Amino acid sequence: MGLISVPVDPVPAWAKIDLQLHRAYRTWFGLGRLRCEWCGEAWGRHGCLTRKSAAKLFVYTASAAQKTAAIDSGDLTPDDLNLRRRSPARHRRRPRPYPVVSLGQVG
Ligand SMILES: [Zn+2]
Repeated sequence: MGLISVPVDPVPAWAKIDLQLHRAYRTWFGLGRLRCEWCGEAWGRHGCLTRKSAAKLFVYTASAAQKTAAIDSGDLTPDDLNLRRRSPARHRRRPRPYPVVSLGQVG
């Protein structure tokens, strides 16, 4: 008996799968606009909407090493690293200034 040690991978599998499925291709024999090979959507700066949300989640959850590997393999573009959720600040706790605790007069 033993526990199989699985390296912790915080990136959901679907995000990685979507990044690999949704690829750009050029219409009109390489002369036209970029479209997504998988869903046929127009290809923007971060790909189609599905890829964009997958890339966003990947950037948000992956470790630095995973991001480097994804860029090296072409699953992610350096541009995608700018995809960050802008909302977490809302949930972040404002650091509380330490209250000055009066210990009374010492001595
Ligand atoms: Zn797509």
